[in-house]
Amino acid sequence: MTGRPPAAPSPAAPSAELTDVPELPELPDGWVRADCHLHTVASGDAVTTLDQLAERAARVRLDVVCITDHNEVSAALAASARGIGARVIVGEEVRTPAGDVIGLFLRERIPYVLPLAEVVRRIRDQGGLVYLPHPFDPVRSSLGDAADSLCAAGLADIVEIFNAKIKNQALNDQSAALAVRWDLPGGAGSDAHDPAGVGAAYLEMPDFDGPASFLAALTLARVAGEFRDHAPRYGGHQAS
Ligand SMILES: [Zn+2]
Repeated sequence: MTGRPPAAPSPAAPSAELTDVPELPELPDGWVRADCHLHTVASGDAVTTLDQLAERAARVRLDVVCITDHNEVSAALAASARGIGARVIVGEEVRTPAGDVIGLFLRERIPYVLPLAEVVRRIRDQGGLVYLPHPFDPVRSSLGDAADSLCAAGLADIVEIFNAKIKNQALNDQSAALAVRWDLPGGAGSDAHDPAGVGAAYLEMPDFDGPASFLAALTLARVAGEFRDHAPRYGGHQAS
């Protein structure tokens, strides 16, 4: 008996600072990695600065980040203007009485005191896309039944079928079923509120140059992701 062959040596031992980053397969030519949902310090309940986002996005090899702060676009606009390495899509996770909805490809902030239908109208008036974050997560402000109504009315563009902050995967599966039911493309996002969370979920997808081609590319996208809970809010030792 010869036993099992030795395992192939890993091509390169990661440096100590990269040990939390998995080895990633190369993408097909013209494809990108895009985290569709993440927060910066502008969200109020998140800690990631733009410098940290730039560093982290490079480390986890994200090509595109959708900055979707709560009721705020200042950091997304600033990141877009100054450049952070990864391409920035300006987004906003807008609180409505019916639950949270995200606008992607925005140009200006949308207030959070408006009814859901008005927020959706304002997203589309800007040429943006209506993205439904964690629609069935009961512990956050989610649309629930209103998500189905939006889809039925033709007012949703993308359903978040994988959110890395959701521990119970049945809730992500429920979102995926919603997307299938209404023949809508799926999105995936880390929903990171700290640097370590950035890239916990993302899409591998053909590159795009605007909302229409983003939507078209989503039909070919592959979801990559894992559950990654929030880091301790004030107890960590991250550099500022
Ligand atoms: Zn979020």
